[in-house]
Amino acid sequence: MSLIVMKFGGSSVGDAERMKRVANRVVETQRNGHQCVVVVSAMGDTTDDLIDLTKQISDGTPPAREMDMLLTTGEQVSVALLSMAIHSLGQSAVSFTGWQAGMYTEAVHGKARITDIKPERVLHAVKQGNVVIVAGFQGMTQEGEITTLGRGGSDTTAVALAAAIQADVCEIYTDVDGIYSTDPRVVKCARKLPEITYDEMLELANLGAAVLHPRAVEYAKNYNVPLVVRSSFNHNAGTNVKEEAAMEQGIVVRGIASDKNVARISILGVEEKPGQLAKVFTALANAQIDVDIIVQSGVLNGLADFSFTVSLNDKEKAVDVIESIRSEVGFREVSSQQNLVKVSIVGAGMVSTPGVAAKMFETISDLGLSINMVSTSEIKTSCVIENNRLNEVIQALHTAYGLDTDQQAFVGGPSERR
Ligand code: ADP
Ligand code: ASP
Ligand code: MG
Repeated sequence: MSLIVMKFGGSSVGDAERMKRVANRVVETQRNGHQCVVVVSAMGDTTDDLIDLTKQISDGTPPAREMDMLLTTGEQVSVALLSMAIHSLGQSAVSFTGWQAGMYTEAVHGKARITDIKPERVLHAVKQGNVVIVAGFQGMTQEGEITTLGRGGSDTTAVALAAAIQADVCEIYTDVDGIYSTDPRVVKCARKLPEITYDEMLELANLGAAVLHPRAVEYAKNYNVPLVVRSSFNHNAGTNVKEEAAMEQGIVVRGIASDKNVARISILGVEEKPGQLAKVFTALANAQIDVDIIVQSGVLNGLADFSFTVSLNDKEKAVDVIESIRSEVGFREVSSQQNLVKVSIVGAGMVSTPGVAAKMFETISDLGLSINMVSTSEIKTSCVIENNRLNEVIQALHTAYGLDTDQQAFVGGPSERR
């Protein structure tokens, strides 16, 4: 008998029929002799719909506390309905909110980190023979305030709970049947990966692969939680995320990801003297702005140019911060650019294989596109390019690194098979 955490995302519980399908799947697992703790997301597009509703109610930014109060209701609907569906199948089940399940977080609204889990109540209910259903994406501060974990955060609830209750495995059920070499909605012949390392998946998730929340992968790595991504619509073997993973012969790039949430800020004509970069990046850090790629170009007549990327919603704030230190730093101009995308290739073997990055640059330039910025690490290379031909770029890279297969990826539910 295993203790299994099963997490179902929004599309897997998008309507009553799908909810019943999930209930069947859970009951089948429980009746096969396992103990099931289920984490569930809000139904379908509920979270987006709630956010849209706030735009009709409040001009400007609504209070973050009230936003969390609202968004956590989506998951509460799901847990109650799933519990009812499981009861209808003759299996006892009990649903808990995040706070009832003992999920404690830091006192930050909108993107809180889990600080502690007190799983006694969950474990007690499991021992009594119940399927336990926990609302994903939510927690509570030590002061009793309700928080959310950031978009896609139900994955993190599941993995963190799996670590806390020492589950044998954490299964993430979604609308694709595993982790692919790239988003199978973009490349139909994407390659399904039997396994991938925590480090590679963490890079892919951070670089934009929505299939897993980055913090969930971080948790799985830190607590060594065996993680599987699979489909809620079929019984195909999924993808195992683990410490070490075999690489197919002749393949160095495990996956390709892209992120449209990129803006570039350029500071031109900066007086060249020691400490300039420190002033700029300290000011940005003090304003809680995360900076990603930084590029400094050569110095001409004692003046340098540099650029960096931030997320799109920090674009205006970043320009304002730079303007506010104009007299301290001394520069000619600050400007910003959007309509960009960061495309990345990831693979643990890249560091020991020469020419991998060169092939990426060549493939992009063969499409007649220029590369605005580049960043590399041992296991990834990222290029910032203009956004208009993204899918073509991903497909060309996928082919160039030998990742195309002759099988069509499984995407969506039974009626959505493409
Ligand atoms: P859920 O609602 O189950 O949490 P998500 O939409 O968050 O589902 O994540 C699943 C989606 O992730 C897929 O439908 C797919 O389009 C996307 N995706 C992006 N990159 C990948 C990848 N490398 N492998 C599989 N799916 C990916
Ligand atoms: N419902 C939340 C969201 O849409 C959390 C999740 O789905 O993981 O972001
Ligand atoms: Mg998700």
